[in-house]
Amino acid sequence: MALRVEHDIFVVRQRGREVAAAVGLEHQDQIRLATALSEVARDLLRVVGGADVTFAVDLDEQGPPRVRVDLAPVRPLPDGRYEPHSGAVARLVDMLGVVDREGDTVVRMSRRVPASSQALTPERLAELRTELGSSAPGSALDELASQNEQLIAALDEVRSQRDELAVLNEELQETNQGVMALYNQLTEELEETNRGVVALYAELDEKSVQLRSASESKSRFLANVSHELRAPVTAVIGLSRLLADSASDPLTEEQAQQVGLIRSSATDLLALVNELLDLAKAESGRLEPNWAEVDLRAVFGQLRGTLRALSTRTDVELVVEDPPPPGMVRSDEVLLAQVLRNLLHNGLKFTERGEVRLRAEVRDERWRLSVVDTGAGIAPELHERIFEEFYQVPGSTRIGGTGLGLPYARRVVRLLGGTLELTSEPGRGSTFTVTLPIGGG
Ligand code: ADP
Repeated sequence: MALRVEHDIFVVRQRGREVAAAVGLEHQDQIRLATALSEVARDLLRVVGGADVTFAVDLDEQGPPRVRVDLAPVRPLPDGRYEPHSGAVARLVDMLGVVDREGDTVVRMSRRVPASSQALTPERLAELRTELGSSAPGSALDELASQNEQLIAALDEVRSQRDELAVLNEELQETNQGVMALYNQLTEELEETNRGVVALYAELDEKSVQLRSASESKSRFLANVSHELRAPVTAVIGLSRLLADSASDPLTEEQAQQVGLIRSSATDLLALVNELLDLAKAESGRLEPNWAEVDLRAVFGQLRGTLRALSTRTDVELVVEDPPPPGMVRSDEVLLAQVLRNLLHNGLKFTERGEVRLRAEVRDERWRLSVVDTGAGIAPELHERIFEEFYQVPGSTRIGGTGLGLPYARRVVRLLGGTLELTSEPGRGSTFTVTLPIGGG
């Protein structure tokens, strides 16, 4: 097509639209291509006085086919360049620009044909060419009318899109409000929970302060009272010994018996007072272990000797095994012996037949010193209770004792860096195990 006068712009536009429709561009794209074409045509007519317009289809094996329009200006473009009058024009097509066509400069635009349209075979193209060639171009008024129609449709679409957008915006705002409300509610709930947790912690702190002070008062009370008691009790023992002494005035048999009772009660009382003092000392942290390399063989030997005197029952055998060599542990000899003596003593007290055995072994870099007896055993629910101060298993009180030995033993073992645990089954006996790090605590 030749573009020479203004009227040709309409014809070029109309032809552009017809070609676009024929190759299968969507309605909107037909208008886009036609509009871009008429804009470029107007520019070229004004700037260089016209152009020769060619419509073509590029069949590319890789990509989709493209409809292409070349406008060869009748006179050279100023500086060999072309910029559309309106920048928006380039966006109407896929490509718009100046290219070199066999030595000539042409303005080219192209647009992809959608894959959904009818395949553009060479035969189909020939058919389209004939069809388009035979149709006569309409008048400028016809094109104006169709252009108006397209404009109205485009405006309509813009308005409906704007309405849709408004609805969407409204929905979005509503959703936002919902999300904000939810967020606020969650924040509030979280804050409330936090306040609750903070209050709970404050209460806990307060309670633990109260507890600590109660426990301190108790230790202080125990220490003071037992200290005050020791002197009079020792005096009672001394006086009763004096009364029974052969150098004193002779006593009647009954008097001697009563003095003997006073003395043994006072001795029991002194033992209790001493135990209380020990415990108070361990609890207040005033008990300082005297760390040294301790020879377990020596400790065991001593225990064997001193406790044999205690095992008066003929049905119970006291067995103190030899610790495996080298039998050394870093600890406090006096405290360790005290704990083991306590456990062995308990074993002998609560075992009617069988044996009480002290055994030592090394496992996982730790000494395990176990006192195993074949006594009555202890019900599982009492395994922790017997480590409480003054607790005695119901029924065992007649055997005597204070209920202070085990709590004291556990404290001391902890001080020595170890643990004191019990495994026991009623009717089968008990095993108290002191576990100590070889290198000390
Ligand atoms: P005590 O022996 O002076 O009563 P302990 O604190 O040493 O106090 O022991 C607390 C209680 O644990 C004992 O009264 C007894 O009921 C129980 N008990 C301790 N050792 C044994 C044991 N070897 N077998 C059975 N019961 C035991």
